[in-house]
Amino acid sequence: MKDYKKLLDWQDLAIGGVITEAGNANNYETGTWRTSRPVWKEEQCIHCLTCWIFCPEDAYTLKDGATAGGKPRKEIAGINYYHCKGCGLCVRECLVNKKGKEIALEYIQEET
Ligand code: SF4
Ligand code: SF4
Repeated sequence: MKDYKKLLDWQDLAIGGVITEAGNANNYETGTWRTSRPVWKEEQCIHCLTCWIFCPEDAYTLKDGATAGGKPRKEIAGINYYHCKGCGLCVRECLVNKKGKEIALEYIQEET
């Protein structure tokens, strides 16, 4: 008689859809999911960090900067496309984009 591996019961399986380790987005290359991408326009950006707050993949990188008055602050340094999955949340929530006069985050189709 063959020695079949015993199938797991549903009670033995790991629970799906649960994040067991907080902050683990950095471990995954979610950039391969992307069909569109945000393009950051540095000259229009006011460094409000809204995009960084909303991004579910921690794709925005930050650098040390300063306000016009010389107060230290964090500023956007760029977008890490290894992690950006192209969800478009940052483009939708960008404060400059919402004002409607200028575009700080453009949303373009990914080239295939
Ligand atoms: S498109 Fe989505 S994943 Fe990519 S940087 Fe914006 S919020 Fe993050
Ligand atoms: S939300 Fe827009 S204006 Fe604010 S930091 Fe991001 S790109 Fe710049």
